Amino acid sequence: MKCAIWYGGRDIRLEECELPPLGPEDVRIEVNACGVCGTDVHIIHGAFPLYQPPTIIGHEYSGTVVEVGSNVREIKVGDRVTVDPSGYTCMVCYYCRQGQIHLCPNRAVFRGAYAEYTTVPERVVYKLPEDLPFDLGALTEPISCAVHATGLANPKTGSNALIYGAGTIGLILMQVLLHSGVSRVIVSEPLAARRELAKEMGADVVVDPTKEDLGEAVKDFTKGIGIDLAFEAVGKPPLVKDAAKHARRGGKVVVVGVAPPGEPTEVVPYDIYYKELTIIGSHIRLFTFPRAINWLSKLNLAPIITHEFPLADTLKAIETTERGEGIKVLVKPKL
Ligand SMILES: [Zn+2]
Ligand SMILES: [Zn+2]
Repeated sequence: MKCAIWYGGRDIRLEECELPPLGPEDVRIEVNACGVCGTDVHIIHGAFPLYQPPTIIGHEYSGTVVEVGSNVREIKVGDRVTVDPSGYTCMVCYYCRQGQIHLCPNRAVFRGAYAEYTTVPERVVYKLPEDLPFDLGALTEPISCAVHATGLANPKTGSNALIYGAGTIGLILMQVLLHSGVSRVIVSEPLAARRELAKEMGADVVVDPTKEDLGEAVKDFTKGIGIDLAFEAVGKPPLVKDAAKHARRGGKVVVVGVAPPGEPTEVVPYDIYYKELTIIGSHIRLFTFPRAINWLSKLNLAPIITHEFPLADTLKAIETTERGEGIKVLVKPKL
């Protein structure tokens, strides 16, 4: 098969490689579309130790099953599927045995989908609706993160939300929230094209934080009360401090963005006490794939997909995301 092997840094080469062996519990998938994630950018910067070169990256994908192992129960050849890339979990550590497999310290990732085929265990393979375009199927993984974050935030019907960042996660999160009890959303995003898209996809108010005063906008938006639920979906530490400032008394701050490890921000403990703030971390997902798939045909997702590249241009695809061009960039091995 053809695969884009990552050799570290920006060295990604299109090569001919062997199909991985198919174990009795495994499913082989012909990849149709694989989304570029912000994580892929961290990976080529060497800032994501879970992936070590040489390997194949790319974890947000959809495709068709072409072969199944002898013990595979539910998945059939020809099924249109997507894969939960959370990876291998040990099932013997403290966390796994508390049902928190997403926090397993022994987690290891699967080989990725910037390739013509992948081979993964059936337990991480999920069927997509028959008539669903593969491009949308490749969004299941970011949706699963938004569903996890929404579940942790547990919005009350009619509440308001502030979202920092109108990238893939911010926009999907906004849609899931608006379908999960949140009635009004304000989005803070410096890029004009992304603000416009946020507006188109349901934001009540969009703010350019480089030119406008977000505090004033929040005051207007909430009649001076403050935000019920503030989501940081960028990965910039100062935004968590900012979110704590704009949250109302009794409000919640949810950290979804992946900030650089070790980089601090100041949050004022008195405010946490006085405002009775809840600060929540949302890490990937925990069995939210089935519910993410239920959202696929209900959410307005098509505007999110802005670019597609053939497998040979995998690096170009990742660099497009790195520059903040468009929203979701797809790599399509069949192009
Ligand atoms: Zn991702
Ligand atoms: Zn474990």
